[in-house]
Amino acid sequence: MRLTAIKLAGFKSFVDPTHIPIIGQMVGVVGPNGCGKSNVIDAVRWVLGESQAKQLRGANMADVIFNGSTTRKAVSRASVELTFDNTDATAPGQWAQYAEISVKRILTRNGESSYYINNTHVRRRDLVDIFLGTGLGTKTSYAIIEQGMISRIIEAKPEELRGFLEEAAGISKYKERRRETESR
Ligand code: ATP
Ligand code: MG
Repeated sequence: MRLTAIKLAGFKSFVDPTHIPIIGQMVGVVGPNGCGKSNVIDAVRWVLGESQAKQLRGANMADVIFNGSTTRKAVSRASVELTFDNTDATAPGQWAQYAEISVKRILTRNGESSYYINNTHVRRRDLVDIFLGTGLGTKTSYAIIEQGMISRIIEAKPEELRGFLEEAAGISKYKERRRETESR
């Protein structure tokens, strides 16, 4: 699977629908301080199921919804959609058959998140499942390397380090399933 586009609307500073095509192997995002570069990364994390507002530099999850500016009123919902090319059929299970996979999350001010895969309403865990073991798994994602993360890995406690290794080895997916089964 390869990320080909990021679509945002009402997410942080991206109040108007914004389409960011990801073309080629390397993409740079440049712009002045505060223009929204990190917000794009937050959007990617968020749509993949991030449930901790702190990881998205906010106090509450509703902080990801555009909360107004001097010229614009706040909006009532945020949505982010990622489009992946899946012509290599690497998406797991039933999703392997689709040449393109889109995953979407919508949040309204009443605090409800909805998740979609190819426009079908799914549970959070269905969406999270696609990415577990790819390096984008929510808890131990290492596909997104941010400031301070290298030192966090170097200084990690053994259990935390093991989390990264399990994500890299593709084991985290099965551990997550087991946790879920045991908690039923
Ligand atoms: P730097 O170069 O300093 O890292 P950046 O381009 O990464 O800057 P971001 O952190 O992505 O900038 O964007 C910060 C901007 O996003 C701020 O102007 C902030 O007001 C705005 N912002 C964040 N959350 C919201 C929100 N919910 N509604 C409106 N604007 C928001
Ligand atoms: Mg930044």
